Amino acid sequence: MTARIIDGAAIAKDIRAQWKARAGTLAERGVIPGLAVVLVGDNPASRVYVRNKIKACAENGLHSELHEFPADVSEQTVLARIEALATDVKIHGILVQLPLPPHIDNAKVLEAIPVEKDVDGFHLYNLGGLVVGESVFPPCTPYGVMCLLDYLKIPIEGQNAVVVGRSNIVGKPMALMLLARSATVSICTSKTRNLSQYTLLADILVVAAGKPRLVTRSMVKDGAAVIDIGFNRLADGKAVGDVDFESVRERAGWITPVPGGVGPMTITMLLANTIQAAERYAEKRARIPA
Ligand code: NAP
Repeated sequence: MTARIIDGAAIAKDIRAQWKARAGTLAERGVIPGLAVVLVGDNPASRVYVRNKIKACAENGLHSELHEFPADVSEQTVLARIEALATDVKIHGILVQLPLPPHIDNAKVLEAIPVEKDVDGFHLYNLGGLVVGESVFPPCTPYGVMCLLDYLKIPIEGQNAVVVGRSNIVGKPMALMLLARSATVSICTSKTRNLSQYTLLADILVVAAGKPRLVTRSMVKDGAAVIDIGFNRLADGKAVGDVDFESVRERAGWITPVPGGVGPMTITMLLANTIQAAERYAEKRARIPA
């Protein structure tokens, strides 16, 4: 079997067009969805991610603001800016680009973002809410994977889903979102003995380990949907995922390439979450008597 390649860029473009239309409807009601991005330090990868997010906002009818700080900024200064953005009516979503420098407490900063503006979905309430299905905003990367599966009508309910990786912002929320849709979910970690024993069971295999080409052909069930979240740079500068694309595509039913698979969906879901935040703001505003 040769897998159908999931063109994440094309799907993202289609989904963005739908959200752009919603942003347009909101603008007619006088609300331009606004995203504030907080960037600390000069990590080159973070700068690229932030630039792409700001560009995507401009292309899809959102207002965006970049709030930049030097690497030695105090935690208090960052917290004060988030506090100001929390009450800024032009801003419906606040995103803090990670990683933060070691002297700043990640958790403290993320908890300072009001839940209704936490469009990255990293606030404890949003992550914890996934356990009971009450998350206000799902984290963008796993949310993007769910959208890809739904867009392609890949069945989830009753399927064996295996998630490789248990980070708080990718692997665990991914597993919870698949579980909420009644997949039978296994989570594998670096301590899992005999990884392929699990991956071979997967109808849906999601890999988020950050290990180049960890998953090879012999580890994949015939016809499986293989979703590669990993993004790794090899010594020669080439970008590869956590799945050995060339060999696995001979066995899988569906496969995402890297780049061009999950990546474009992550920013799409950030736009979606921000537009939804603005829609909720507009609804709330409309309920307040003049
Ligand atoms: P992370 O925090 O480093 O977590 C990696 C997880 O993989 C850990 O839970 C680790 O297990 C597990 N793991 C490592 N080696 C393993 C192995 N040999 N077998 C099974 N599990 C293994 O990374 P992350 O933030 O979740 O990101 C994962 C990957 O996704 C990275 O390549 C990242 O660049 C990429 N990513 C892409 C996007 C996108 O938009 N495309 C967004 C976010 C992340 P332990 O917990 O036991 O250490």
